[in-house]
Amino acid sequence: FHKIPLTDGGKDELYMMAATFNRMMDRIEQSFLRQHQFVSDASHELKTPITVIEGYAKMLQRWGLKDEKVGQEAVNSIYGEAVRMKAIAQQLLDLAKLENEFEMVKTEVELVSMCEEVAGMLRKLFHREIRIIPSDNRLTIKGNRVQIKQLLMIILDNAIKYSQKRIDLILTSATFGDTTIPGVEIRIKDYGIGIPRDELTRVFERFYRVDQARHRKTGGTGLGLSIARAIVHRHDGAIRIESEEHEGTEVIVFLPSQ
Ligand code: ADP
Repeated sequence: FHKIPLTDGGKDELYMMAATFNRMMDRIEQSFLRQHQFVSDASHELKTPITVIEGYAKMLQRWGLKDEKVGQEAVNSIYGEAVRMKAIAQQLLDLAKLENEFEMVKTEVELVSMCEEVAGMLRKLFHREIRIIPSDNRLTIKGNRVQIKQLLMIILDNAIKYSQKRIDLILTSATFGDTTIPGVEIRIKDYGIGIPRDELTRVFERFYRVDQARHRKTGGTGLGLSIARAIVHRHDGAIRIESEEHEGTEVIVFLPSQ
């Protein structure tokens, strides 16, 4: 990326135009770098399951047809890795869409009933206690229903995966940081394994998984929180995470009501 060399102290119109041009080039360059990183991360993550599938297919080719036990093991692993690849591909598509789509349908979304709906489904699926504690009967924001539901599912799914006890979902009307922008704060609190302090800032990165999680074979992809963050940013909101190892984790989301 070539930029126009600027001499110090220039203030004329041409200088201003050149400075604007350089700023634009910086942004384009950053966008290219992000795309490049995205493609290289995705290829790297997809290479692992492909290598495993290749290995088991080779094993099947050599011995599988004669040895039933080997055959079963290979087929199970190939199936498992294929499912994982499908999940990675779907989540990458979701992320790309969130980062590149200009138009987004936003309507009034009532969060207490939406949380009830999502929690109800997860209670049935995972037989876990999820308490909803709202400050009001109705708490509304302006948002995309599908995306907000996906956001709640991602955070609650993590709380379920990384804890055994109950999960609390606390909803309150709030303002954005030090501003007067009105909205709703959602706190999703679990009492599980927690996240080590030095890894807290990294969990929103694409494909990042804390070692414990990787070892526990919880089947995640490391993309959930990146998608959650992209959704919150598309809604001009904020997301942060607080955690204490072996005590639990709290994800705090703010979504503006306009
Ligand atoms: P994953 O698919 O691995 O769950 P995420 O992007 O959703 O990916 O989360 C990234 C990592 O952050 C997880 O692998 C896990 O190590 C950690 N993490 C996320 N939520 C929690 C939680 N509620 N409790 C403990 N660790 C968590």
